[in-house]
Amino acid sequence: MTVFLVGLTGGIGSGKSTVAGCFRARGWHVIDADAVAREIVAPGERTLADLAERFGDAILRPDGSLDRPALARVAFADDASRADLDRLTHPRIAARIAERLAVLGGQEPGPDPLIAVVDHPLLIETGQTGRFDEVVVVLAEEATRVARLVRDRGLPEDDIRARMRAQAGDDERRAAATHLLVNEGSLAELEAAAGAVADRIEAAAREARGASPW
Ligand code: ATP
Repeated sequence: MTVFLVGLTGGIGSGKSTVAGCFRARGWHVIDADAVAREIVAPGERTLADLAERFGDAILRPDGSLDRPALARVAFADDASRADLDRLTHPRIAARIAERLAVLGGQEPGPDPLIAVVDHPLLIETGQTGRFDEVVVVLAEEATRVARLVRDRGLPEDDIRARMRAQAGDDERRAAATHLLVNEGSLAELEAAAGAVADRIEAAAREARGASPW
């Protein structure tokens, strides 16, 4: 069964997870790239062994699991380390997501049309937008995002801004988008706008599989 593929991206704190929740509520299949990124470094995974080989056993806890703060300290220390971290993780995350999508496409029967969303903070940065039928970008001003993340997650402002600097800028995001959601209003407004985008995507998915939308 053909999967109609939707990429969902935006900067940290832009509202991606909220929009992903709206899409999930419509019965779409949502793959969370952050969850996949955690899976591929679980004990026993090849990526964890490769990271330990590159950055040293100090990135491992005594029980063999990944010590994330320790990895962040060494891997974000300089550009070459950062590049190695990306090289060892990004292709594997993409491959694991592709496996999931292949399994989904192999299932019969499924919802018709079958729509899968990949919620990925680095869809643009990792050059993957071309693989998707539609790309939904969530945008919000930096100050709005910082305020929400400090309020809701208690993250230190410096950490948030450091992560923002490693992400694509809004011009790149606008250029990659087939649907843009500007999240400067209330949560209810975001959910309504996400619903309208979902209607358009469902119509496009039906058209893509050649069926009449009526
Ligand atoms: P991350 O990149 O960190 O995973 P995200 O892009 O998935 O973030 P969300 O988790 O959806 O963003 O939103 C960040 C925080 O801001 C959440 O606590 C969410 O409830 C809140 N939020 C999102 N949109 C709005 C809004 N329009 N009004 C108020 N709060 C909002």
